[in-house]
Amino acid sequence: MGNSEAVNMERIAPSAVVLLSGGQDSTICLYWAKGRFDRLYALTFDYGQRHRIELDSARTIARMAGVVEHRILPVPTLAELGGSALLSQEPIQEAGGRGNLPNTFVPGRNLLFLTLAAAWAYQLECHDVVGGMCQTDYSGYPDCRRATLDALEEAIRLGMEWEVRIHTPLMFLTKAQSVRLALEVGAMEALAYSHTCYEGRFPPCGVCPACRLRAKGFEEAGIEDPLLVRARRECHRAGGHKELG
Ligand SMILES: [Zn+2]
Repeated sequence: MGNSEAVNMERIAPSAVVLLSGGQDSTICLYWAKGRFDRLYALTFDYGQRHRIELDSARTIARMAGVVEHRILPVPTLAELGGSALLSQEPIQEAGGRGNLPNTFVPGRNLLFLTLAAAWAYQLECHDVVGGMCQTDYSGYPDCRRATLDALEEAIRLGMEWEVRIHTPLMFLTKAQSVRLALEVGAMEALAYSHTCYEGRFPPCGVCPACRLRAKGFEEAGIEDPLLVRARRECHRAGGHKELG
């Protein structure tokens, strides 16, 4: 595994703030950052997302990764403004919103989250923020594009007089490539506790767009999803002992 050594030895700076939603991509990014920074500060937003299970996943994963501090910041304003299926109970649609975007797009979300992450980085006197944004297999969200983030770095530099680099290790990877990266950076065990399903189910529903995209990545990488392995194991155990409904 010479390759994984190369991945883990490339140290960038003493500390970084990592955006951690509790999903697959941010979990991989957290472990990517583990090999590159000595101290990690994980940041999760409670913004009125449909399912609290995401926040539980983020807590578990932050603990597993041994971060120095994990903060869950309340950002209720996005849900107050509304306009996204992620913040309501309306059905998920993969396209057909404004500019043919999926109706899961939350306008301003990444801009706001990254700005808040930069504000925390400023307080910590740290220059590095890591996020799971990806424009390859992405859902068409314009705030996941590298060009948006480059412009935001510049806005932060001007507006805070503080340099912040926004690292996006998954930006140009396909879902299959990011699964392989997960293996390389040692994120598999934590991925068993990540949450992806739009329906908020555990075991995952397997049919929503988020579940299908996740399954496709693991299938193409030829690796079994550790979340499904865990789901099978826990369901088996629950059935055997008749502890859970
Ligand atoms: Zn699902």
